[in-house]
Amino acid sequence: MSKIIRFEKAVADSILTAAMSAYPRETILMLQGKKVGDEIRLNNVLIPPLATYGRGFSVLLGSMLPWDFTIMGVAHSHPSGTLKPSMHDLNHFYGRIMVIAAHPFQSYDDLGVFDSRGNKIQHEIIPDV
Ligand SMILES: [Zn+2]
Repeated sequence: MSKIIRFEKAVADSILTAAMSAYPRETILMLQGKKVGDEIRLNNVLIPPLATYGRGFSVLLGSMLPWDFTIMGVAHSHPSGTLKPSMHDLNHFYGRIMVIAAHPFQSYDDLGVFDSRGNKIQHEIIPDV
């Protein structure tokens, strides 16, 4: 299965900026976009309703809005710097993809995209439209 995730630049920048400003706490963002064939194109980030920062990933799920088909997945930060999903993350997978931003949140190399099994999915950053 050849899947690719394309981040509009503003989306990637927003994730890194949010992760940096929440540090040393964890931050969570929902990712909006559209799926075209094997490509998922992320074009917006949403702050989850009632997001409670710093209490971990699972808090999000209790406060989630009804299913929205433009939500492709969730991004969260790893202040620890680990660029892979934890078992806990995989047990709370939501949507099609999971994006992790790892400390120090300085470059697009600090972003990783994963499927529900924790496998890495190829991604790239594209200019905004
Ligand atoms: Zn995590």
